[in-house]
Amino acid sequence: MSRTPIIAGNWKMNKDVKAANELITALIPLVKDATCECVFCPPYIDLPEAVHLTKDTNIGIGAQNMHWEDHGAFTGEIAGEMLKALGVKYVIIGHSERRQYFAETDETVNMKTKKALELDMTPITCCGETLEERESGKAQEIVVNQIKNGLKDIKDITKVVVAYEPIWAIGTGKTASNAEANEACGWVRKTIQEMYGEDAAEAVRIQYGGSVKPSNIVELMEEPEIDGALVGGASLTADFAQIVNYDKK
Ligand code: PEP
Repeated sequence: MSRTPIIAGNWKMNKDVKAANELITALIPLVKDATCECVFCPPYIDLPEAVHLTKDTNIGIGAQNMHWEDHGAFTGEIAGEMLKALGVKYVIIGHSERRQYFAETDETVNMKTKKALELDMTPITCCGETLEERESGKAQEIVVNQIKNGLKDIKDITKVVVAYEPIWAIGTGKTASNAEANEACGWVRKTIQEMYGEDAAEAVRIQYGGSVKPSNIVELMEEPEIDGALVGGASLTADFAQIVNYDKK
């Protein structure tokens, strides 16, 4: 089965509305012939402008987080329903920075992933181990448990995009080797196969994330288990187009 590659830029807490407008305007013509699904995930305040600017383009807009409830007393939170109403189509869930700084757990990741699917949005659900966990030989166990708990009881797993992001490779300039990245994406697929069967595992798309840049995207995308990338730092300039256009080099 062939899986459509998906490359998403996670802007994190960078770019105000004006800067977002400039970057998106620069990128629209540069990524227009992309063969992969191309997604930008700017901060919340940029989303209305981003959706507006990318209307009738091949770019999908995603949020970096959402709440699983539709409304209520959750100061500072944004509901998935609100994103959906704006025209946001994707949402990053359980990024390691959310887990580390904002106490996200596999349980909240599971609730958010289910809610995003219920709203017909594509969750980009993240997993990945710390350096300490990798060095002590626990990486596989950690990733498998994150998938088992974060993605349990999902109605249509094939609509979820999983991002495997080893925490030690995020924003550090240290990329996992191609073999390490492929192996870990394989752990994710195998776990999904055990939970949901062979066909689902074959269909689900798994991204690698962690210091992806124009110079390493081609070789990462050659790995059989890797179906795309979640890109932080290198998504903040128009050079992101070189990553999206990896197959045109
Ligand atoms: C990320 O934030 O998801 C990420 C992978 O960041 P970077 O590409 O900067 O390592």
